[in-house]
Amino acid sequence: MSITGECFCGEISYQVTGKLGDTTSCHCSRCRKAFSSQASASALVQPSQFTWLKGESLLSTYSSAQDFGLQFCRMCGSTLCTIYKGEVFQIMLGCLNGSPDIEIGKHIYVGSKAKWEVMPSDVTQFDKGP
Ligand SMILES: [Zn+2]
Ligand SMILES: [Zn+2]
Repeated sequence: MSITGECFCGEISYQVTGKLGDTTSCHCSRCRKAFSSQASASALVQPSQFTWLKGESLLSTYSSAQDFGLQFCRMCGSTLCTIYKGEVFQIMLGCLNGSPDIEIGKHIYVGSKAKWEVMPSDVTQFDKGP
């Protein structure tokens, strides 16, 4: 069974074969800005198991650091994935379709979360990185 995802407007979609890797939610101030939310939520993928199904030409890339970038839909602004040296290495969980069998494994940089965010107490959390 393959896992699929798409952006908000639906013009871009992708497929992941095999299982998703480690899932992480990062609450640092950079992720809040980058993902317009209280935290990022992502899963690692093997580049060889990731395929764009349609809309790849609508992707824009923002280089956030050397060799690293965010890829988003230029129509609707959804951030779909992060890339390292041009290859997809992380997908953002918010764009997944349906209910794949995953849970966020760890919450990181909880020590710098927004004051307005209330963390559940029963999750695996780290003040900084694990
Ligand atoms: Zn879109
Ligand atoms: Zn972060």
